[in-house]
Amino acid sequence: MRPICAKCSVFFRCEKNDYAFEVGFGDGTHRPFTLWLGDLWRCPGCDTEIIVGAGTRPMATLHQDDFEKIRESHNPQLLVDP
Ligand SMILES: [Zn+2]
Repeated sequence: MRPICAKCSVFFRCEKNDYAFEVGFGDGTHRPFTLWLGDLWRCPGCDTEIIVGAGTRPMATLHQDDFEKIRESHNPQLLVDP
């Protein structure tokens, strides 16, 4: 089942598959540690965007020699840095 917006009582709509995003170290330095691909969904009611379907493993990690090359090819637009 598609994600549901509890605020608007409607289904989210998929905006983009293979949406590239990064996850940082979580230390406030905003440095990427891993690169992921997920699906970007948007609520047609309130325009809230969510990313789901990223799986359990990143497509690349900082420790890989080709991390920067992979990162540049996917051009991630979002850094999650809790
Ligand atoms: Zn909504």
